Amino acid sequence: RGKKAFIAGVADDNGYGWAIAKSLAAAGAEILVGTWVPALNIFETSLRRGKFDESRVLPDGSLMEITKVYPLDAVYDTPEDVPEDVKTNKRYAGSSKWTVKEVAESVKEDFGSIDILVHSLANGPEVSKPLLETSRYGYLAAISASSYSYVSLLQHFAPIMNRGGASISLTYIASERIIPGYGGGMSSAKAALESDTQVLAFEAGRKHGIRVNTISAGPLRSRAAKAIDFIDMMIDYSSENAPLQKELSAEEVGNAAAFLASPLASAITGAVLYVDNGLNAMGVGV
Ligand code: NAD
Repeated sequence: RGKKAFIAGVADDNGYGWAIAKSLAAAGAEILVGTWVPALNIFETSLRRGKFDESRVLPDGSLMEITKVYPLDAVYDTPEDVPEDVKTNKRYAGSSKWTVKEVAESVKEDFGSIDILVHSLANGPEVSKPLLETSRYGYLAAISASSYSYVSLLQHFAPIMNRGGASISLTYIASERIIPGYGGGMSSAKAALESDTQVLAFEAGRKHGIRVNTISAGPLRSRAAKAIDFIDMMIDYSSENAPLQKELSAEEVGNAAAFLASPLASAITGAVLYVDNGLNAMGVGV
């Protein structure tokens, strides 16, 4: 039986979510994605018009198929949580059933169950501000979109996940080491995500028999990362200082995710796996 994967946080072909989808597809999984509502139109149009065809090519030459694209806003759990101005916003009004609970219900209706859940999304409106200058609103928004969104996704999807299934999120080393420039409470949000990975591994392991891990990825020039002006500096820093002196490709993170989601990783849960050319192990720059 082929496995089914739901990947939340795919809106173009540049980010980690897309690369993870490809690696899972190459390993034979059926791909469902959750796309942020405001980005949905352009993503679906580009997909339909073949704009991503070159990036859809799998190692065997075939093209990755995305069985279904679900609109999703992981900041809202149920329709009751959606404020009026968002509900009536032109970009949201055109789609329906995009809160976390409703998306899980739609996936259940369409496919019954899934095996793999991927959280590849983050948002911090004040990411470019130092933590010392971050507002309460900015900090809580970062936590809501980047950390609680994962608790919520797992809460709603775990009941439709087959035993032996796996869940994966993406984190960044700014959670545990000082990375100036990763502000707005995003470092705090990643620390929460990593701590939650352990607690959720316990709870979802006991209750649903699924594994919960996170990948601490090195820097990638994704759409989201372009909002952080130092991304190019971080990429240069890594190729100068990491044990492996090469640019990290999204595919390498995708492949690690496919491993973590596979039976090869059947005893791995609650882990932070570094996929960063080894940069995390360095104590000084060289
Ligand atoms: P990306 O732009 O490809 O992915 C982020 C996605 O989140 C986008 O598709 C965006 O539409 C979506 N999103 C934002 N708010 C949302 C919401 N409320 N509901 C649903 N979707 C929402 O960028 P990426 O860098 O590949 O990010 C994926 C993950 O990887 C994030 O968790 C990020 O923090 C993590 N990460 C990135 C880097 C890097 O250098 N790019 C490094 C380590 C970890």
